[in-house]
Amino acid sequence: MKRIGDCPQFTDETVIFKKGIKMKKIALTGFIIILFTLSFMLTSCTPKQDEEALKANAREIHERVLTVDTHADTPMVMVRSEWDIGERHEPGQRRGGKIDLPRMKEGGLDAEFFAVFVRQGDRTPEGYAIAKEMAHKGLDAVNKMCKDYPELVGLATTPDDAYRLERQGKRAAFIGMENGFPIGQDLSLVKEYYDRGVRYITLCHGGDNDICDSSTDERNPEDNGLSDFGKEVVAECNRLGIMIDVSHISDKSFFDVLQTTKAPVIASHSSVRAVCDHPRNLSDDMLKALAAHSGVIQICLVSSFLKKGKPHPERDKAIAALREKYESWRDIKDEATREKLWQEYREIYEKYPGERATQKDLVDHIDYVVKLIGVDHVGIGTDFDGGGGIQGCDDVTEMPNITEELVRRGYSEEDIQKIWGGNIMRVLKKVIEVAQESQ
Ligand SMILES: [Zn+2]
Repeated sequence: MKRIGDCPQFTDETVIFKKGIKMKKIALTGFIIILFTLSFMLTSCTPKQDEEALKANAREIHERVLTVDTHADTPMVMVRSEWDIGERHEPGQRRGGKIDLPRMKEGGLDAEFFAVFVRQGDRTPEGYAIAKEMAHKGLDAVNKMCKDYPELVGLATTPDDAYRLERQGKRAAFIGMENGFPIGQDLSLVKEYYDRGVRYITLCHGGDNDICDSSTDERNPEDNGLSDFGKEVVAECNRLGIMIDVSHISDKSFFDVLQTTKAPVIASHSSVRAVCDHPRNLSDDMLKALAAHSGVIQICLVSSFLKKGKPHPERDKAIAALREKYESWRDIKDEATREKLWQEYREIYEKYPGERATQKDLVDHIDYVVKLIGVDHVGIGTDFDGGGGIQGCDDVTEMPNITEELVRRGYSEEDIQKIWGGNIMRVLKKVIEVAQESQ
């Protein structure tokens, strides 16, 4: 006890010394806690921050890659005199269309294959003449757009054109022809259309024609595939450098085309039959054959090709009544009657709306193709202005949502680049090379 009393200074210093250690320990612990908190804040984010980062990353990827849509029937809208593709139309606006040049920029879409669509008509000299005239009207409309808005858009016929226009901040306008019917029975017309910019031809549409049989012609259920004239058309496309589009054609026509063509082919707007059973979609065997020929399937944004909706008896009843009222829809020649029919058809769907597919359903089809035949054989073909449009991607402004879903599923930028444009540009390049070799 005394000894301690003898050395009071020692005792006090010891206390101060011990207090100092204690203070340092507290300070150190505090410092470690702050450091840990800071590093935790830096390395981990809240779900909201994660979501924002993912969206920002997806948008950046969307802007960096060349984005190509291989099928929009917008020329049908463009031929209407009151409608101007250089003007912005509000998404969802009635008769506003799904695509215009300002909205293409908003949606980060670099290139569009404007499909000049011609309805299947009578296979008579008059029928062929009408089809040819309609085709030229559509071609005029796309060429006029490029003349009217040279600061916004340019005509593209090669991959180089698309990449150059993208660098210039302009949209690239490719031209496709939906239905080979305007060729009629005159092979020389293939070159005539090529000279006006056509770089793919969908061999047929909803009905059989002189080239091949369709996947959806109820009047002729027998599938005769590709005709002898069709084989000549395929060879002429190969010779000139036009991509052959197998969307809409029957299964036999598809395999006949693959046996005939020297160049890879595309399905400009079709989806996967194993995911959604529809004759317009491609079976696994077709997908494997497509890939074996280095081709590409461009998944279509038509809801009924992506997802089977629940049965809707009231709507089915209303549609059946409409069928009875107008009898054979395909045979209606009068435009006013046809317009009235479609108006009533749309009203039925507005009254009894079905379950719509979403961008998740779309990417399910992409996933399936990637697993079956690889990421080099899939792309996107919206069919905007021709029935395309889903929840989450109902017009061109919503296209970044597709990229977002791809990022969410773990696709790399390299994969996304292939899906959005790299694959279709590879096929076009190869088709041009095959043509150059043959000439
Ligand atoms: Zn179509």
